[in-house]
Amino acid sequence: MAGKGATQSFDAVVIGAGFAGLHMLHRLRQLGFSTVALEVADGVGGTWRHNRYPGARCDIQSFDYSFSFDDELQTEWVWSEKYATQPEILRYANHVADRFDLRRDIRFNTRVKMARFDDARSRWDVETEDGTHYDTQFYIFATGCLSVPKAVDIEGYETFEGRSYHSTDWPEGGVDFTGLRVGVIGTGSSAIQTIPIVVEQAKELTVFQRTAAYAVPALNRPVEAAEREAWIAKRHAHRDLARNSLFGVPGAPMERTTFEVSAEERQRIYEEAWERGELPALMMTFSDILADEAANEAVAEFVRNKIRAIVKDPETAETLCPKSFPLGTKRICLDTNYYQTFNKPNVHLVDLRKSPIEGVTPKGIKTTDREYEFDAIIYATGFDAMTGAIVGVDVRGRGGLELRKKWADGPRTYLGLTVSGFPNLFMITGPGSPSVMCNMMSAIEQHVEWTGDCLTDARKRGVAVIEAMPDAETEWVAHVNEVADATLFPRANSWYMGSNVPGKPRVYMPYIGGLGPYREICTEVAGNGYRGFAQQSAREKASA
Ligand SMILES: Cc1cc2nc3c(=O)[nH]c(=O)nc-3n(C[C@H](O)[C@H](O)[C@H](O)COP(=O)(O)OP(=O)(O)OC[C@H]3O[C@@H](n4cnc5c(N)ncnc54)[C@H](O)[C@@H]3O)c2cc1C
Repeated sequence: MAGKGATQSFDAVVIGAGFAGLHMLHRLRQLGFSTVALEVADGVGGTWRHNRYPGARCDIQSFDYSFSFDDELQTEWVWSEKYATQPEILRYANHVADRFDLRRDIRFNTRVKMARFDDARSRWDVETEDGTHYDTQFYIFATGCLSVPKAVDIEGYETFEGRSYHSTDWPEGGVDFTGLRVGVIGTGSSAIQTIPIVVEQAKELTVFQRTAAYAVPALNRPVEAAEREAWIAKRHAHRDLARNSLFGVPGAPMERTTFEVSAEERQRIYEEAWERGELPALMMTFSDILADEAANEAVAEFVRNKIRAIVKDPETAETLCPKSFPLGTKRICLDTNYYQTFNKPNVHLVDLRKSPIEGVTPKGIKTTDREYEFDAIIYATGFDAMTGAIVGVDVRGRGGLELRKKWADGPRTYLGLTVSGFPNLFMITGPGSPSVMCNMMSAIEQHVEWTGDCLTDARKRGVAVIEAMPDAETEWVAHVNEVADATLFPRANSWYMGSNVPGKPRVYMPYIGGLGPYREICTEVAGNGYRGFAQQSAREKASA
């Protein structure tokens, strides 16, 4: 192991030991590359290690939210519920690490702070916080799209005399809220999962909402043995469908359009989708939901009517109805009794659009209307998504080019995998790739496979340096924007756009062309000798 100040050399250094880092490390070892993963946490699992709040679960069915790359792994693991809980998913991540003996090549408690490309040697110098240097040909970000919590920027935050909790950094032993007055800031996916659980203990619970979300019922349940056997029997076909789908799970939007059918038929179709308890189901009902405003409004109104039917107080129901952005343009949330929670007499909703928060006080939270007193505050305020962890490292490419500067007006990538000016650097689920638009396990697997193939091909052909060409990058950025602009997605002030972080440029970050079509593009690029990439052999490099 490299000690402090010492340098150790590898073919590839992977940053992160969440699902992406674990899979990348395993793949590189299988392919015969010397490699190491550097992880700031003290264990594997990434997202599922940090987000331990009560109620945390996957929003993609457990069978799909799992690796397919090893058939024994996918047939031996037994998921207990349709949507697995955080502890179960973390156990799975640990199982993956143990099963493939990955821990011996992971350095835990190790934060990468800097990575410099040495033009003369065409190698990366990776420096960690403790001053250790790693010398590597390939540098691979597997740092996650949702791994950097957004800093809480509410005035007086540190003056609160009660207890403060963050959904992204929950105490390991859990929290007992019995008899406490609890405030929750945020109504995104984490808040929607945790509110119905916290209220079981809390004396009073007050939810502070700025933007109402669309949530559909998870209809979670145990996985029966017969269901598991049926899944195992059809797993290969099922995984193929997922790989080539839009959202990384089997299924595609119906070809029909919204107003082709009668209002009654539409209602029946929406109801059927609602009853499936699956995140993409409503979006699949008609082909025009994400492109046509009226079609989107029709399905959005269906969800609002569901909320109005569940929530007894009409004013609370109306406040919970999402109206400020089209359905599906932010990831839809899956809920278990979220809306029902607001029928409890000890649950209150504060509409921050009417009375914004002025600050946190020693006693609680002050809005423009009044002060609310609490014993505990839960912050579920989201992430500096997609780029936060990447620019969290000071990355210097060719000629000392700074990635933070290059991305000052928003991320620019080729295929969401590489960046021009940063040779031999790869990003798993980087901006400009489908990533957060789909089942991320499917997105991670596609990127890991592509990157592994690319490195293997480079080694076979004696290519020492591979780098996205500026034109290819420009074309890809234009394509990502063009596809987004043809839809309703850019209408939402969402973290996809970076809009939740003050000062972050407003650029549509994920590629919404769908995982299957995106896979085809990546495969075609590779099949055409890595079209759009400048490639230099060791000999050319020496004579240059
Ligand atoms: C609460 C929550 C629920 C989610 N649920 C779902 C879901 O149901 N379905 C779905 O598809 N997706 C979901 N996601 C998205 C989820 O992030 C991905 O599914 C997946 O876990 C990402 O894996 P990853 O390895 O890419 O990133 P992560 O799991 O985020 O791992 C990245 C790792 O990199 C480490 N790291 C970052 N920077 C550095 C550095 N500078 N030096 C060293 N280490 C570093 C981090 O500590 C972390 O361990 C969810 C996300 C959250 C936050």
